[in-house]
Amino acid sequence: MANHIETKEFQTEVKQMLDIVINSLYTNKEIFLRELISNASDALEKVRYAKLTNQDILDPSIPLEITIQANEKENTLTITDTGVGMTKEELVENLGTIAHSGSKSFLKHLDETEQKNLDIIGQFGVGFYSAFMVAEKVTLYTRSYKPNSASLIWKSGGTGTYTIEETQDLKRGTKIVLHLKKDASEYTKEYTIKSIIKRYSSFIQFPILVNGEKVNTIEAIWTKNKNEISDEEYNEFYKYQANAFDEPLLKLHFSADAPLAINALLFIPKENLERWGFGKLDPGVNLYCRKILIQQEAESILPKWLRFVKGVVDSEELPLNISRETMQDNALVAKIRKVITKRFLKFLHEQSKNDPEKYSAFWQQFGIFIKEGLVTDFEYKDELTQLLRFESSKTEPGKLISLQEYVERMPSKQKQIYYINGMRREIVEASPYLEAFKVREIEVLYTYDPVDDYVLTTVNEFGGKKLVSADQENIDLPETEEEAGEELPAEELPVFKAWLKQTLGEKVSEVKTSKRLTTSPAMVLNPEGMTNNMLKMMHIMNPDQKNNTPRILAINPKHEIIKGINELRKQSDPFAEVAAWQLLDTALLSAGLLTDPSATVQRMNKILEKALTRY
Ligand code: ADP
Ligand code: MG
Repeated sequence: MANHIETKEFQTEVKQMLDIVINSLYTNKEIFLRELISNASDALEKVRYAKLTNQDILDPSIPLEITIQANEKENTLTITDTGVGMTKEELVENLGTIAHSGSKSFLKHLDETEQKNLDIIGQFGVGFYSAFMVAEKVTLYTRSYKPNSASLIWKSGGTGTYTIEETQDLKRGTKIVLHLKKDASEYTKEYTIKSIIKRYSSFIQFPILVNGEKVNTIEAIWTKNKNEISDEEYNEFYKYQANAFDEPLLKLHFSADAPLAINALLFIPKENLERWGFGKLDPGVNLYCRKILIQQEAESILPKWLRFVKGVVDSEELPLNISRETMQDNALVAKIRKVITKRFLKFLHEQSKNDPEKYSAFWQQFGIFIKEGLVTDFEYKDELTQLLRFESSKTEPGKLISLQEYVERMPSKQKQIYYINGMRREIVEASPYLEAFKVREIEVLYTYDPVDDYVLTTVNEFGGKKLVSADQENIDLPETEEEAGEELPAEELPVFKAWLKQTLGEKVSEVKTSKRLTTSPAMVLNPEGMTNNMLKMMHIMNPDQKNNTPRILAINPKHEIIKGINELRKQSDPFAEVAAWQLLDTALLSAGLLTDPSATVQRMNKILEKALTRY
């Protein structure tokens, strides 16, 4: 038979499209391999379908696989599949027509369940042309699976024309030889090829062999049914995906059909590496479209404060050529993010109910991210507030409660939710702020984390009850029975308070009597919206500025120290002033606000000396 070569022109639009694809559609050259492998996979999937439906096919016994050979000497890369191949008409239609996806029209002819059961990737009809980003010439050998089909060779330089000629004795399938451009010779390196395949095409269901070795060994378990996956398989997948050596703490595997088709498999690690000083974590979720990687460590698919989450999100609605830049403000991506974030927060909430101990382990490691979410992202405020956990004056050390539990067990006459910050439980429990609450048996949440006050100020209220820091000035506590003990005489009290204010000068804005103290002589209080801890933080951030904010000093008129200072004052004893200053410093000390102890230490020595001379 004479070898007849036909030369054909691409459709005009194809010429333009080629130009767009080659020069600007894909920001990343290496994805040509992803596109060609995806096409090979589609072609194999169609053979699988033909076998399932008992069609007559050519070479029925050759294995369904993709073979890749790199030839450094010739500067070529060859991708071979044993898929459906193409007839002459199909070659013209699929590779010569713009945005014509043979795969999409293949699917159209099937009914819905068949479509669901097949793993077809192609849908836009542009991927093939990405070969010309790296190749100056493409030679494609193909033979359709249909009996008696011809063996064909398709060639093009990716510019105006292509040729089709007949040849002899090809096996079923397609072999694509890329004659690489000079500056694309890196794609003949086995290592490069393998790592590109691992990155983008790890989850192709047919074997991909590079120079004889199978490269894709992991299964895309997120598309399978939950009950078909064992715990070991989940753990193995996690280790692969998160580069981890241990098992995950928690996992969430879910799929949604409405409003968007999403498959997601998310993991929470055991450890928060940010706590170990590894710096800020990168996002840990990869974005896929039908098992093909679109973006690794995708920034836009979850909010920043969920950066500790590992796993995959797969949505078939995403276009494959979406770039990092367009991801940012893509409405579809924003929708997916919202669906997944809500689902994930709901999962955490359920987890906290079903397995509080595990949730507590989660909270230990990752609670800080929930707090970050609360102060930076108001969209999920309610969901995040539900997830907060604290120790309290009514829990055992190490046991945590939620705001919900607090509200459920507070007496009906209590109007507010109280919290107090301190470094540790012992420090909090020794502070004067707790005295009034102990007497009244009111529960107070303990917040050990410096950011907690900002978090709870942001939350502001829960279940209609305002959140109030126990070091606040105006706290509306129920009356108690008067404690026994003699007060400083009523007529002397105003004079004493005025004297104290005058003595301490600018350091205090006001001296007032408080019924909130029982065992301590005094404490410093804050106006609404400010807490000791916030002042402390401000001081840490601005160390040059001395802690000069005038404080409200609340005194306990029944306390021996207060009565004692008053006696000395009446006798005009100069030691009254020394004691007054010490009173303020001790109050600041227990509030964690004594920033310059030098004066205090000197004064303490003076007081100690005086005490010792009495013996
Ligand atoms: P898409 O994959 O989105 O359909 P492509 O430009 O990648 O678009 O491919 C266009 C069409 O060419 C495919 O739909 C398919 O019909 C055909 N095709 C491409 N590669 C192969 C192959 N290896 N074997 C069989 N048909 C192929
Ligand atoms: Mg394709």
